[in-house]
Amino acid sequence: MFSYSNRGASDDASGQQPATALDALRTVFGYDSFRGQQADIIDHVVRGGDALVLMPTGGGKSLCYQIPALVRDGVTVVVSPLIALMRDQVTALRELGVRAAFLNSSLGPAEAREVERAMVQGEIDLVYVAPERLVTPRFLDLLDRTRLALFALDEAHCVSQWGHDFRPEYLQLSILHERHPTVPRIALTATADVQTRAEIKDKLGLTDARVFLSSFDRPNITYRVVPKKSERQQMLAFLRDNHPEDAGIVYCMSRNKVEEVAAWLNQQGREALPYHAGLPAETREANQDRFIKSEGLVMVATVAFGMGIDKPNVRFVCHLDPPKSLEAYYQETGRAGRDGLPANAWMAYGMADVVMLRQMLEQSEAGDSHRRVERGKLEALLGFCETSDCRRQVLLNYFNETLPEPCGNCDTCLDPVETWDGTVAAQKALSAVYRTGQRYGAGHLIDVLVGNATEKVVQQQHDRLKTFGVGKDLTKVEWQSVYRQLVATGLLTVDLEGYGGFRLTDAGVAVIKGERVVKLRKDPVLERRRGVHDALRRHTARGGSVSGGLSGEGVSRAGARGALSAADDALWHALKDCRTALAKAQAVPPYVIFHDSTLLEMVAQRPRDHATFAHLPGVGGRKLERYADAFLEVIRQHG
Ligand code: ADP
Ligand code: ZN
Repeated sequence: MFSYSNRGASDDASGQQPATALDALRTVFGYDSFRGQQADIIDHVVRGGDALVLMPTGGGKSLCYQIPALVRDGVTVVVSPLIALMRDQVTALRELGVRAAFLNSSLGPAEAREVERAMVQGEIDLVYVAPERLVTPRFLDLLDRTRLALFALDEAHCVSQWGHDFRPEYLQLSILHERHPTVPRIALTATADVQTRAEIKDKLGLTDARVFLSSFDRPNITYRVVPKKSERQQMLAFLRDNHPEDAGIVYCMSRNKVEEVAAWLNQQGREALPYHAGLPAETREANQDRFIKSEGLVMVATVAFGMGIDKPNVRFVCHLDPPKSLEAYYQETGRAGRDGLPANAWMAYGMADVVMLRQMLEQSEAGDSHRRVERGKLEALLGFCETSDCRRQVLLNYFNETLPEPCGNCDTCLDPVETWDGTVAAQKALSAVYRTGQRYGAGHLIDVLVGNATEKVVQQQHDRLKTFGVGKDLTKVEWQSVYRQLVATGLLTVDLEGYGGFRLTDAGVAVIKGERVVKLRKDPVLERRRGVHDALRRHTARGGSVSGGLSGEGVSRAGARGALSAADDALWHALKDCRTALAKAQAVPPYVIFHDSTLLEMVAQRPRDHATFAHLPGVGGRKLERYADAFLEVIRQHG
């Protein structure tokens, strides 16, 4: 008999409907309690209400429609924009024993017909559908013949034309409600941008839906922005110290750079793959698939990579080039740490980046009002990079959310940045610009300031200027930092013609005249420190609950500092090997078997039998039955 679940043949595929949402959470998903607003959202939808759910990545949106799909009678139709996303979700659901399927262009006609038949027969609880298929007459007719439980519109921001992932087909989704006014709808998105949220409501006709807005903070992500010196070496050191065996993403601006950095990482002994829109579709798909299915791979990518990556254990996101805006930064870094375990967002940022961003803005051909918006976005991004305050406060503030206290989990909180009165230094730097005719970039200007009589300096007779040598009190690196901040804060602008020389702005002139003071940050000296890898180890060492994360009181408990013992480390690796083998045998990603958090709990709790194994978070009935023996055996061997 055809079955959409992975239940054995003896199972009754039509039965086992959980009576309540909490039943479903415990028996199917293996979790104890709901998180945040999940319980309210699910309750509202189960009762037939419409909902708009705004929750960050990793917040637990999927359960908000998957549980109602199990509790309500009929089929839940999930609209999802990407084939890869649908496939991964359906794979994970089937692992849990849920009757789920997808309908998209990757299915042959016979397979598609089989799914359609199962829908009409009610043999399936969830069907994932691509939006373009949904609005076809054939599918609309199919819906008319199906008993419907719920419409879930995932990645709802795709309806926004101004957002990052516009999908025109999303605009037609209001047809679902017109044809099936009594079937509840739930739209979900992780977009933090207020304009896009308003658009979603409007375009999807969700004006009467109840809005569930969560905090967009991602407390498990540590934000760091380091001054760029030699970006590759800096990143390599960061990876060695913090993520010697973790998977992560490195974002670069250009396709060339993506290829170069990926090749270089491989030379350094770090397995990496490239991803950008210029690669053949098969290569992209193959690389993405390897990233998802393997453990420690680094994906070096342009922003073409990321949407629809559901991998929960992406432990770091690095930016070797600045993102386009703070919205983009939030989205891109947000791909780290979906599982709630500690993760790092690391960016190298320097003078050349600021100059490039300013030039791009000047070159933009957008009209005045659009340009004003772009300028605002750029200032916000630069403000974030240059801040000496808590980065998380700056970031959340940009999304109209207030974090009352500094977070304690970003570079400026962990290693407070000193500021200094840079008024005199700024005056020197600005007058060097002025006296050399507002044509030169930082390199030459710094030579003038520190009194370095290079050929160019002598040739231009800049050694005769009053500013020549007035900046010997600071090093070249410090002057670089001063100029970067002057450009970033808009006291200098970048000339478009020629070689990107600096020009004074009105604000810069005011500084020279002594009408304005300048506060500068003292860039921290880079040093090695402990990171996520240690945090994971500390976590298991203290035997705490992974789902509680590392924030909060748990961290300060006695023993929190202890390193993972050699025995724990061996068990952790053996459990991962066991998971990999099981995943390979079924050609599914390892996290579909168990998340890292579940394995870490195995290390911490060392269950001995089914009864204790069943209590691990992420172990539902189905996984207990299928996998407990294999993992218990590994634990026994390491007893
Ligand atoms: P989103 O879609 O919002 O990015 P997911 O639905 O993928 O988030 O959930 C993120 C992670 O949190 C997943 O690993 C999921 O299994 C886990 N999770 C969700 N809800 C709970 C819960 N109530 N208890 C424990 N873990 C949960
Ligand atoms: Zn902070």
